[in-house]
Amino acid sequence: MSDHKRSDLAHRIVIKIGSSTLTNEDGTIAKSYIADLAAQVRELHAMGSEVLIVTSAAITAGLQALGLPPQRPDRIPTLQAAAAVGQIELARAYARSFEAQGLIVGQILLTRFDTVNRESYLHARDTVERLLELGVVPLINENDTVAVDEIRFGDNDTLAAQVAILVKAELVVLLSDIEGLYTADPRLDEDAQLLESIAGFTEELVNAAGDAGTARGSGGMVTKLEAARMLMAAGIPMVICEGHRPHAVLDAACGKQVGTRFSSEKHSKQAGAKKLWIALSGTVKGSVFIDEGAVLALRERGSSLLPVGVVRVEGDFAAGQAVDIRTTSGFLVGRGLSNYSRDELALAVGHTSEQLAGNKLLIHLANKEVIHRDRLVVF
Ligand code: GLU
Repeated sequence: MSDHKRSDLAHRIVIKIGSSTLTNEDGTIAKSYIADLAAQVRELHAMGSEVLIVTSAAITAGLQALGLPPQRPDRIPTLQAAAAVGQIELARAYARSFEAQGLIVGQILLTRFDTVNRESYLHARDTVERLLELGVVPLINENDTVAVDEIRFGDNDTLAAQVAILVKAELVVLLSDIEGLYTADPRLDEDAQLLESIAGFTEELVNAAGDAGTARGSGGMVTKLEAARMLMAAGIPMVICEGHRPHAVLDAACGKQVGTRFSSEKHSKQAGAKKLWIALSGTVKGSVFIDEGAVLALRERGSSLLPVGVVRVEGDFAAGQAVDIRTTSGFLVGRGLSNYSRDELALAVGHTSEQLAGNKLLIHLANKEVIHRDRLVVF
């Protein structure tokens, strides 16, 4: 059927499809789109790849089925009721199209609670592994019917990255309504150029990313870049491309140039599975802003973060919770679990161990890293 080469083929692929790609203008599920996707997945299976699908659109499809307005509802119970209805519609559409290609789908609904808890995380991994072994295509979405803020991924770009890390995927493909990352927002600037390949993040690049796309999507470019960063740290490449381009998935899976490819060579040996889970599975509760010396120590020497390198703290976190690590201008350089609560850290900011040891009120913090190197990942 196609000229796709096996030599560059990724063998375990997570495909994430956004709500605006999966639904028609009126909010109904785009069944012909899913049918085409199923045909591409069948071809990938035939070439020996395993495929996992992270699907959005439960909420959009549910709102449509219930005759409710298409805008994302503010009332949480309405949103959750819509998800309950839409998820069935969605699963049915996938099951039908995949069955027509001789493929079985299996549904897994996750919340962040399932990834933060190590035991649930490992159970989820075992289930997905078994499904793949059985030749099933796992169909994954956030469990929107029960997820409340505390345990939400909030967007499926993040969920797709977490799933890919969970199963050690070789590639993530984000099928979107935009062709990739541009030098500027292409909806506003006609000179915007598509960036075909990205091997690292700069402030300029992050600033170029526009905001959330259509009313039917929830992520936008910001969450896609966040996902790319997590995946780079895990050594997993990611492609963003326009979901409606013919053979999008097959092309991306075979390493052909489509959309924007985020490569990961630079990072591939940085962090093992456990460290990735520790640093990346929790909900981020705040930010720790650090000076240039500390940025260098983290990036070049793989050091722990010490209070002396911290300039400022933001957010509200307890000891043991996840925080972003940022430069003084706000550029994200890493993520990890803080040994300090926010209030404790605010007192210790900028102090050397000697200074802390010489202060009767702060002496207990003298030998405590802000984030231990084993509990942080540098992006
Ligand atoms: N989980 C949401 C849904 O199925 C979508 C979230 C997203 O698109 O990022 O409707």
